[in-house]
Amino acid sequence: MPKYKLEYIWLDGYTPAANLRSKTKVEEFDDFPTLEQIPIWGFDGSSTRQAEGRDSDCMLKPVRHFPDPTRINGVLVLCEVMLPDMTPHPSNTRATVIDDPDAWFGFEQEYFLYQNGKPLGFPQDGFPNPQGEYYTGVGYKNVGDIARQIVEEHLDICLDAGINHMGINAEVAKGQWEFQIFAKGSKEAADQLWVARYILIRLCEQYRVDVELHCKPIRGDWNGSGMHTNFSTKYLREVGGKDYFERLMAHFEKRMDEHIAVYGPDNHLRLTGLHETQAIDKFTYGVADRGSSIRVPHSFIRNGYRGYLEDRRPNSQADPYLVVSRILRTISEVPTS
Ligand code: ADP
Ligand code: MN
Ligand code: MN
Ligand code: MN
Repeated sequence: MPKYKLEYIWLDGYTPAANLRSKTKVEEFDDFPTLEQIPIWGFDGSSTRQAEGRDSDCMLKPVRHFPDPTRINGVLVLCEVMLPDMTPHPSNTRATVIDDPDAWFGFEQEYFLYQNGKPLGFPQDGFPNPQGEYYTGVGYKNVGDIARQIVEEHLDICLDAGINHMGINAEVAKGQWEFQIFAKGSKEAADQLWVARYILIRLCEQYRVDVELHCKPIRGDWNGSGMHTNFSTKYLREVGGKDYFERLMAHFEKRMDEHIAVYGPDNHLRLTGLHETQAIDKFTYGVADRGSSIRVPHSFIRNGYRGYLEDRRPNSQADPYLVVSRILRTISEVPTS
């Protein structure tokens, strides 16, 4: 029987942003295993801020798996962290997500590639040319050399693994990039996003590059990084309507603080009202308005207030499980008629 390398992936207990952790378990299977065949496993929670040394066992419950295209007989096994009695660990944000197979999410993950303490393409001293030509740019002077190689390799690995990338692009700041992931089902897109982050961070090791997910790594006139969250429910796609939409937005405004609380650390540095953002203490929505909290696509109005909306506030370091949870909770508080 072939031996498979199962890479168990989980989120640690660091705050305000969890880190990805992983370790390998070798197991024999006749064929590529089903999720049910992959055993529950454990780790030392005292080394990940998830337990005290005296009672340090945490459990790993496999919840989604993908082939690992970078390894022979490799499997990427995304896990939830559980307590020894198999109830969710307090750090397990995935366990709090409302199950809604008809909620669709598209995340736009922005990030910087960093080397020697600065974004790829930044000179040893000082700054490169101001922002302008980098967004969707081509050419060595705009995107450098190894960045595109990393980004392309990341895309191929993710697609081979079955992660539903919708696209990639160079972003507004030098050394800043974006990938988009879309999936149907409240947990699916968030799961895929975490695994895509994992693949990217691991891939960059061999380039001596780190992935900087902080939302405002360079102060001054440089864009921060977001994780715009495009969302739709079955009702929004199929029924919608101006009245429902306006009541929904009024409730999003009421819940502004609860949303900001889970939209990623240090977001006040990014949501300033500049650089295609709304200020952190204001809630606005607008058609095609990239300076608003929620951008309403033209297609939404054209289709009779039906379709998806873009919440532009979540930042690059946000936990997509918390983002999805909050959006679905706010929507669930608004009666449909
Ligand atoms: P922009 O950069 O103009 O904001 P992107 O193309 O980067 O737009 O991202 C828009 C995302 O919206 C796409 O990745 C797509 O997956 C997502 N999306 C499209 N339709 C829906 C929908 N009905 N529900 C949720 N997300 C959607
Ligand atoms: Mn985008
Ligand atoms: Mn973007
Ligand atoms: Mn966007």
